[in-house]
Amino acid sequence: MTRGFYIGRFQPYHRGHHRVIEQIAAEVDELVVGIGSADQSHTLDNPFTAGERMVMITKCLADLDLVTYVVPIEDINRNSVWVSHVQAMSPTFDVAYSNNPLVIRLFEESNIDVHQSPMFEREQLEGTTIRDRMRQDEDWRELLPDPVVATIEEINGITRIQHVADTDKSGRADPE
Ligand code: NAP
Repeated sequence: MTRGFYIGRFQPYHRGHHRVIEQIAAEVDELVVGIGSADQSHTLDNPFTAGERMVMITKCLADLDLVTYVVPIEDINRNSVWVSHVQAMSPTFDVAYSNNPLVIRLFEESNIDVHQSPMFEREQLEGTTIRDRMRQDEDWRELLPDPVVATIEEINGITRIQHVADTDKSGRADPE
């Protein structure tokens, strides 16, 4: 039995992430999806809470023929102990999946096997592009799996992103 670990911020979880997981599913029996920067929310780069991202991802994974676990992982101040922190929060795993150079280095220094996972249609399926489109409320739905669109609508996520964009620009909450 092989269990993999795939970490990302998933702000939001998009069709590119889902394609990566479908590909990983062919290589493992079980997969832990780590929600990175779980302590972050309500900013332009990290608009969604860990709980909201758990809902988005759990619903998207429901149709896959794969045992999955979705685990929030908060950031910590010391990179040197981050892998131990991940291991404390996650079911044990045999292989990690990432393309982030820092994440790859930290896992390799802890003697954990790391596989790289190429993203798809990167010109469109990229978190920053999607958050920009959401801020302008333009053509963002087509880039996200249906359960993610439904979750964002349920929590009024577009209004939130537009408000935090105002906050980030002025350094204080928009009084409206
Ligand atoms: P990230 O900062 O969320 O993403 C970095 C970039 O890589 C983004 O543009 C992301 O695109 C892209 N990306 C994500 N998955 C990819 C893939 N399979 N192929 C190509 N590009 C991909 O970093 P992350 O690697 O996704 O997540 C790492 C998490 O671990 C972060 O939350 C980070 O804070 C955390 N971490 C914490 C510590 C610490 O606390 N000391 C140390 C190391 C890492 P999208 O925006 O489209 O996803």
